[in-house]
Amino acid sequence: MTPDAEFGYELLVCRYAELAWHPSEGSRPALVSRQLGTKDRRWDTVVIELDPEAFERRREFGDRAIDSDLLHVVRGAPAEWAFYRDALPHPGYPWRYVRQAVHRAAGRDLIEKRRDGNRIEIRRKRPYPDWVERIVAVENKPDLDRSAADRLSDQLDHDIETALADEAWLATETTGERVEPALLREMPVEAGILATDFSGGLDADAADVAWHPSDLSPGEGQRRDPETETLRLEIAERAYGKGWRSYHDTMRPDCRHFELRREGRALVPYCAAKGKVPTARECSGSCPEFSPEPPQWRTRGWPIEGGPGKGIERLLRRRRERERDRAERVE
Ligand code: SF4
Repeated sequence: MTPDAEFGYELLVCRYAELAWHPSEGSRPALVSRQLGTKDRRWDTVVIELDPEAFERRREFGDRAIDSDLLHVVRGAPAEWAFYRDALPHPGYPWRYVRQAVHRAAGRDLIEKRRDGNRIEIRRKRPYPDWVERIVAVENKPDLDRSAADRLSDQLDHDIETALADEAWLATETTGERVEPALLREMPVEAGILATDFSGGLDADAADVAWHPSDLSPGEGQRRDPETETLRLEIAERAYGKGWRSYHDTMRPDCRHFELRREGRALVPYCAAKGKVPTARECSGSCPEFSPEPPQWRTRGWPIEGGPGKGIERLLRRRRERERDRAERVE
């Protein structure tokens, strides 16, 4: 696979995770997202294992991610009316930012607010549920060569040290061959290895576990510190809001060459002009071959919906929605 194809590979790994999670422990309800993490570390694929019942209550807060400022307000909002500064823990930054977040949270219907003279009081609409069970990080490397192995082993070491995730994996493409054992031996033993073979199309059997991961979560009787817990929740919220199909936000589905192609049970973007899966970077307004869909496409047959580009965006959003529904229903 060429480096350009890493983006396509990442999408296939995301879809595989959606169909087959957990690869060695049996089915677990989960959401999949990509390109998330912290300022120090960005993971390729992120799997959020969840509690379906609590997740159903999370969905009552709406489809958008609740960002870190809003989480502070939503998690701390009391059952009875109270002045927001009395009700919420000290944020560690000026209260005026919290006041802005209070207005935003009320504007999104996440909490209730009212005025009592000069004071703004808040009350929760519903408790914020504890819906995140485990967070799993997957690094995708279709071509595992020496330099990639060295880099990955450093990144995975970092994941193991910080224990921000509960489990870390490397996914690599084998196309029927064994992965180079010498390279795999260099990976930290705690990281799992997923040997994928997507050559025959993608389905839930398109990968084998070549090495089982260790559990990185705190041991019996231990807890993560509250900052780490909050950071994990922020990542989970972003994963919930974004999913893994949001590439249509940065790519150009409104280009006449943009298509979605089926690869087994996955749909991946395809550029008919370049004859390949375009990277997110090249599929942009500055692409020399970008050609906006003609206006008549938007008026003939698509009078309301706004052309095939919009249709692709809607289709991808619907898929994200369907996966959220599915995660909620898994027992
Ligand atoms: S021609 Fe360029 S902008 Fe159009 S689909 Fe291909 S890569 Fe994307």
